[in-house]
Amino acid sequence: MTDFAATRRAFHLPQGITYLDGNSLGPMPVAASERVARMMAEEWSEMLITGWNKAGWYVQPRKVGDRIARLIGAGPGQVVMGDTLSIKVFQALSAALALRPGRRVILSDSGNFPSDLYVAEGLARAVGAELRVVAPEEVEAAITGDLAVLMLTEVDYRTGRRHDMAALTTRAHDAGALALWDLAHSAGAVDVDLTGADADFAVGCTYKYLNGGPGAPAFIWTHPRHADAAQPILQGWMGHDAPFAFDLGYRPAPGIERMRVGTPPVIALTALDAALDVWDDVGLADLRARSIELTEAFIAGVEAACPDVVLNSPRDPARRGSQVSFRHPQGYAVMQALIAAGVIGDFRAPDVLRFGFAPLYNDLDDVGRAVDALARILRDGSWNVERFQQRAAVT
Ligand SMILES: *Cc1c(COP(=O)(O)O)cnc(C)c1O
Repeated sequence: MTDFAATRRAFHLPQGITYLDGNSLGPMPVAASERVARMMAEEWSEMLITGWNKAGWYVQPRKVGDRIARLIGAGPGQVVMGDTLSIKVFQALSAALALRPGRRVILSDSGNFPSDLYVAEGLARAVGAELRVVAPEEVEAAITGDLAVLMLTEVDYRTGRRHDMAALTTRAHDAGALALWDLAHSAGAVDVDLTGADADFAVGCTYKYLNGGPGAPAFIWTHPRHADAAQPILQGWMGHDAPFAFDLGYRPAPGIERMRVGTPPVIALTALDAALDVWDDVGLADLRARSIELTEAFIAGVEAACPDVVLNSPRDPARRGSQVSFRHPQGYAVMQALIAAGVIGDFRAPDVLRFGFAPLYNDLDDVGRAVDALARILRDGSWNVERFQQRAAVT
């Protein structure tokens, strides 16, 4: 059994704060700050350029990728780190499209995160493809024989709705298409099984449930059946078969290494590597069970105490990730009042109050405090003041 009291102790959780926003930015693992300080003191400062070999900076993107692999149902040597998620979406989507020559249609849904859709729209324009966007519940019926790539985010960033990855991937394959999954709100939140679902490509970020810190690098996975066939469209020197031969022509490295682009963010990877230590003793079945326990308790508590909000997430935990949202017409002001009361969730336009439950450090006490604070704010109307209604440019 995973010891979630021990995993909670691994994080720096500021006094007096109930943090339910780890689906946007995970808190700092104590080990991360120590590890980065040591890396600065022993590696960058003393080793200088020899750190690329001596300290293993060069192989870090794959070594860290191997640690992520276990959390998403992938095998060793199949995941590589780098860049941001938007870039990884571009790489995976372009590679998938190229593997289906003669087909030009990308299918996604309106529950996807805008950046994924923007990237797909720009790529489609550049290569003469077509992006089709349907409602999440219409995806299955929209998988047609002209589809090249099904591109979905498994867990919806607003509602927490979780797609059936295995079933939709099978549908896509039956239609002759490939399936690309964005795991931004899945990795570290739910029991992802890319191999079991037989997915083709996957991408995700590491600053949400994986707690790698602001700007932590993204990951990309290619199923081994495509790994040596996928043509990278961003042909950078770090994805070259022999980067230090400085050939004038590009020749992709074998396997997932070709999805590297430029110099890896070594300091950020060091923080992430330390953040991943917490996961060593975590079982994915335990993670899922804990997530369901927390989200079920939150829904029951809010529905019993807050008649003014409406559940905006699937009621069936099997169809939900590790976040819960409710709607309130004055959602923005209500969330500002909650934050002022020490409960940090976030607001998503137009009226969504969103709460992420990270099994590694959230517990039933957090759930209780959040329910109590929300109930009090809605009951006494304390959200209804000028200062909570003014929207800042950046929130
Ligand atoms: C958080 C998130 C992103 C963010 O992309 P970055 O390039 O890391 O800023 C992209 N897609 C999805 C689905 C996300 O949830």
